[in-house]
Amino acid sequence: MKKTLAFVALFATSLFAADTPDLTMQNRIRQEGFRNSKVMDTAEELMDFVGPRLTGSPNMKRANEWTRDKLTSFGLSNAHLESWGPFGRGWSYEECTVRMTSPDVAQLWALPRAWTPGTNGVISGKPVRVKIETVEDIEKYRGKLAGKIVLNGDVREIKPHEKLQYTRYTEKELNDTENYELPGRPRFTREEVAKRNAFRKALTKFLADEKPLVMIDPDPADYGTFHVQGAGTQKDGEQYPVPSIVMSTEQYNRLARLTDQGKDVTLEVNVKTTYYDQDKNAYNTVAEIPGTDKKGEIVMLGGHLDSWTVVAMEAVRILKAIGIAPKRTIRIALWSGEEEGLLGSHGYVSEHFASRPEPTAAERDIPAAMRRNPGPLTIKPEHAKLSAYFNLDNGTGKVRGIYAQDNFAVAPIFAAWIEPLKDLGVTTVTERNTGGTDHLSFDGVGLPGFQFIQDEVEYGERTHHTNYDVYDRLQRDDLMQAAVVMATFVWEAANRPEMMPRKPLAKSDLPAAPTTPAAAH
Ligand SMILES: [Zn+2]
Repeated sequence: MKKTLAFVALFATSLFAADTPDLTMQNRIRQEGFRNSKVMDTAEELMDFVGPRLTGSPNMKRANEWTRDKLTSFGLSNAHLESWGPFGRGWSYEECTVRMTSPDVAQLWALPRAWTPGTNGVISGKPVRVKIETVEDIEKYRGKLAGKIVLNGDVREIKPHEKLQYTRYTEKELNDTENYELPGRPRFTREEVAKRNAFRKALTKFLADEKPLVMIDPDPADYGTFHVQGAGTQKDGEQYPVPSIVMSTEQYNRLARLTDQGKDVTLEVNVKTTYYDQDKNAYNTVAEIPGTDKKGEIVMLGGHLDSWTVVAMEAVRILKAIGIAPKRTIRIALWSGEEEGLLGSHGYVSEHFASRPEPTAAERDIPAAMRRNPGPLTIKPEHAKLSAYFNLDNGTGKVRGIYAQDNFAVAPIFAAWIEPLKDLGVTTVTERNTGGTDHLSFDGVGLPGFQFIQDEVEYGERTHHTNYDVYDRLQRDDLMQAAVVMATFVWEAANRPEMMPRKPLAKSDLPAAPTTPAAAH
């Protein structure tokens, strides 16, 4: 039995012998990445100095410019900002103060929803409590909310956090990931999404007619963690009609209980926000390490301009610092617009590699992954030149492996590359797909786009899309490891003899066969 297995293993190895990991280079990458890391310096500047960076905001523009200059200082070539087309109005907030002045005096924690207007100075009054969750709810409150401070939502019972806030993958979990998983069904149906969109539109219309002073919702998180997101749209003439803020759940509950008990509650609210209409474009930051004998071919890496974007920056810094001369050109892209629907990477891929017809207005309201295919791809010449794109976007956690994204031909190549990375905890190549981030923009047009498997650490519980996505929650050792792994993957891909193998395109994606003059006759 053992003999057979050994034979099979030997056979498999010889079949995929093409990729022998470059240990000399892996040595040099480790030396630079572990002995001379700059990843935390980069993070400190981006997070402390530039600060939070909503797409389209002045801070995002600063982040684009700062990352461009930083990549230039690392020695990369052709660092530049590349517009991915109009995004809409920029927005920032300067103040959000909420105080209870009766029956007790208390400073409350609250944050404005992105793209919502301010209060135009301090407003005060007695709050009214409502619960608007459906189109039917709206009618109950018509004519009752004008000029009011509105608390929207019931008191939410808060349970202790039974789930561990800090987790790393166990060996068993990683092994399980290696089993192929048939594609699942989407979490929501298109009908459910359409219904939710209709409610959102009806609510916006209602608020525009009704004109309450301010809407206050409880945050879905607790413990002072905020998951505040946006409201309304960035389009001209579609500004959200009223100031809309989210309050720390425990404090919201206190206000809601006092109001429900008929106590004499008075609130003071001051929200100051600013819209920016001068430049409606949004940008990605792009830079390169030029290739040598295959310089027309490209290996890309990146992430969107969140906190862990510093891993991709550190990976190219390492490669540049050790003085590599890769066969292929290495190109880093730092995307904006990821949280709003992978917009920056999608725009880049459409511009450079392949595009689809624009979705209809009705389809645009449906999340990209659930839309009906609007038609075949228009494939551009650069499509043939991109070997692979490597993305990192799942928090501060170190890399434990990689998703092959249903591409069976790359799995043995990745398996060979990670053989010398096992002592760093990188053990797993899974055929599985993973979604939710910018590699999908590449995968969606038939290009090899990959995302790493990363330890959770506190991602789901605490740091992802929260006010605690800050410098102090970044874990230095994890980021150093991730940068070394990313640099290794990029180097191996840039220097192997062949481009990375691709999945076949779906028939519906293929351009219609051109009618040749001969065929026309
Ligand atoms: Zn992210």
